[in-house]
Amino acid sequence: MSISYWLDQSASSKKNYDVVVVGGGISGLSSAYWLHKKDPQLKIAIIDKGHLSSGATGRNAGFITCGSVEHFNRLNERWGAQLAKEIWQFSEDNLDLLKSELNLGDKEDFQTKGSFSLASTENEFLELKKSAQLMEDFNIQVESLDEKQIQSRLNADGFVGGIKYLSDASIHPRKLCETLLASMPNVDFFPNTELFKISSSGDQRILFTNQHEFHCQFVVLATNGYLPLINPYFEDLVSATRGQILITEKLPLFLEGPCYANFVLDYFRQLPSGELIIGGFRQLEKDTEVGYSDHTSKVIQNALEKFINTHLPAAQNKSITHRWSGVMGFSFDGQPFIGVLPSDPQIFFLGGFTAHGLGLAFHTGKCLSQLIFGEEFPEFISAKRK
Ligand SMILES: Cc1cc2nc3c(=O)[nH]c(=O)nc-3n(C[C@H](O)[C@H](O)[C@H](O)COP(=O)(O)OP(=O)(O)OC[C@H]3O[C@@H](n4cnc5c(N)ncnc54)[C@H](O)[C@@H]3O)c2cc1C
Repeated sequence: MSISYWLDQSASSKKNYDVVVVGGGISGLSSAYWLHKKDPQLKIAIIDKGHLSSGATGRNAGFITCGSVEHFNRLNERWGAQLAKEIWQFSEDNLDLLKSELNLGDKEDFQTKGSFSLASTENEFLELKKSAQLMEDFNIQVESLDEKQIQSRLNADGFVGGIKYLSDASIHPRKLCETLLASMPNVDFFPNTELFKISSSGDQRILFTNQHEFHCQFVVLATNGYLPLINPYFEDLVSATRGQILITEKLPLFLEGPCYANFVLDYFRQLPSGELIIGGFRQLEKDTEVGYSDHTSKVIQNALEKFINTHLPAAQNKSITHRWSGVMGFSFDGQPFIGVLPSDPQIFFLGGFTAHGLGLAFHTGKCLSQLIFGEEFPEFISAKRK
């Protein structure tokens, strides 16, 4: 984050808060929610350089899935049995917390239909079977499906088998953010307010933005993929990674629930209103699907359409109404992190949701509030693990 001499002179009025949260996506709103819940007297502001959910949160596919970016057998191999279970439980708790705190329903297009992981090769199916076995040993609810069941329940061709995670959900992500913000009437939201610089004056932190000068005691940086632009400390923790998506016209309902394919890289689901949303294939342009541009590319968009035409006959050659991309924050090890800047004990942060912010950020925001209030939280999400 650099600031020009000219812009540095533009902020005019001074605003005083106890906490300023930078980022109006799911992680910023979640952090504010839990801080507000812990102490309703706290004066909290959320600022965003765009509008509510203008980052990845308003550009994602709306899956609220448990676990992480990889099949459970791989999570297990990488982290060990105990931690793999803890990581899974953390995301299940995220969904339970969303349900119990926000009373989600039709208004947010909230559905709890589970989700599917589909294998197009025998090798992946073997891994999925291994995952299902391990999960059953841990009492995590899954169901195994063969090729015929996938055809009859999902109307999907070309998959040799799969598993269904019974407790997953999906949602309209922007409406989720609106619900969260509406649940905190005392929290002020400032759109079009870009943080340029943070400086100190005694125990106050001063945030210079294009709109106002914010004076506060604590800062929460909740900008995920944009964290390295704010402070070089984050360059080792998180990298800006692009994701692309498209959505079709409304179709008669044909999918039992949201689906992942190809080792969680590609994903699709049908909205309650019938549109098919599909994303993924960043593996085709791995070197260029990074950074902060929000363009879409022909290679990936064509691959998404080809996937539909190959695997989903009910959606073949339908009109595509929107194509877009978004900036995610991939952490160094695939798990989210929370922490406090080593250079400033009054600047806290969370991020690194690695394409799973809806499945992780509400719980992670709760952990951040525990860190700020000096309470314990699961060690595996501490940024100190790096
Ligand atoms: C195409 C795509 C599909 C995805 N699908 C899913 C999915 O189905 N399920 C799922 O769980 N996750 C999905 N994700 C990932 C998910 O969207 C993210 O993990 C999540 O939104 C991260 O939330 P956040 O609030 O941390 O970050 P963001 O939503 O990116 O919010 C960060 C905010 O910070 C603001 N900001 C940045 N810099 C500044 C500054 N200097 N001053 C003020 N404001 C600033 C930005 O404007 C932005 O609004 C997907 C992502 C993409 C791109």
